[in-house]
Amino acid sequence: MSKKFQFIVVLILIYFAYFYNVDFSQENTVQDYSFEIEEKPAKVTNFFVYGTHLNLEGKIKLEEEFDNLILGLVNEENEIKKYDLNYQEEEKEVKFYLSEKINRGIDLEKVTEGFYTFFLIVEGEVELYYLLKNKTEHENIEYYSLSQNGYTNKMYLNVADGFVLQVEKIAVPDDVYDFVLDPGHGGRDPGAVSGGYYERDLNLLYAKKIKEKLINLGYRVKLTRENNTDILPTYGPDGRVQFAYTTKAKFFFSIHFNSNYVRNEYEGVEIYVPPKTNLDFASELATNIKEKANTKYSNLEDFRVKDGVYRRFLSQENIDAMSDSFSQLGVQLHENMHQKTPYYFVLRETGGMMTNAYVDGRDPRREANEFHNSYIAPESYLVEFGYMNHDGNLANILNNKEGYVAGFIKTIVDNLER
Ligand SMILES: [Zn+2]
Repeated sequence: MSKKFQFIVVLILIYFAYFYNVDFSQENTVQDYSFEIEEKPAKVTNFFVYGTHLNLEGKIKLEEEFDNLILGLVNEENEIKKYDLNYQEEEKEVKFYLSEKINRGIDLEKVTEGFYTFFLIVEGEVELYYLLKNKTEHENIEYYSLSQNGYTNKMYLNVADGFVLQVEKIAVPDDVYDFVLDPGHGGRDPGAVSGGYYERDLNLLYAKKIKEKLINLGYRVKLTRENNTDILPTYGPDGRVQFAYTTKAKFFFSIHFNSNYVRNEYEGVEIYVPPKTNLDFASELATNIKEKANTKYSNLEDFRVKDGVYRRFLSQENIDAMSDSFSQLGVQLHENMHQKTPYYFVLRETGGMMTNAYVDGRDPRREANEFHNSYIAPESYLVEFGYMNHDGNLANILNNKEGYVAGFIKTIVDNLER
């Protein structure tokens, strides 16, 4: 055979191999299973990605007795990854969900390359398999796993016809990041001021040190601001909240140092978390900072949910004040402005629907968070390393930066080991 002819034969073979494969995989998703599929689907009433987890809830009418409900991800080889479901029976309808915690569910970091179809598996005398049907307004989701050696698992969840997850290893695209670090305040806003030091400067200094360590671990990191002079808006297309979404990051950390009205009254580390979250990561972060920086858990009792871990909601006074100013503007309060909504915008607005974001542009005094309805968002934490108006804390913050940063990095390494 001539070289040219060989080349054409190879091209034809590639062409058939490619299309044969595509056909095969499509067929496989609808009929090549080792089990029968029930006719009616299970209805999905909510699903979202928060941090590194996919969460999902739904309902189904079941006539027959059953022992247990499972969510199964079935790949092309008919292998099933099983996830326990919680469920409640109401009359003939059963409500099911992966987790009440927004940062739990299916750990997407552990889903390997492949093509998976979701099934609700009803375990009883026989096993019944139901496809899922999207009953929400949500559309398809794209997720990029934490990067490793320049690669990421790109995940595409297609919900147009059943729930199908395609996972493919690719080089990390330029606009995809693992972490956003947000040095609080900046520009005209100095934050806390104590002993001649400005919080905005320390926030940036610490964020840059943490960024350097994370990059050395192979992560991709974005800062919301790179200097202390530019004025960074909160919302709108150039705002700090926007970074949570446009970077496709898995974690968002807002970096702060604390202060109050009475010198030396409070000291120690505080980690603020959104509602409905598992606290393990926040708790380890507080403990590791305490130990590595030789500091304490904060002695502030308000809003404390665990040693070093805090959760602050809007109070009725906050809501009343917003209600007054909104009625003067002739604007209706948002339904998310209630007492289970985070007080700090940096936790609330970076988490989309999952954390009750509400800055949707109705308030003419501020730009909109155009992602307030997002159902994919990073897991957010607000870190208060210590009190600048506590003499011992301030000396430690200035002289023991490596200790604080080491506590932060240890928590990342221990929890996100790859
Ligand atoms: Zn601050």
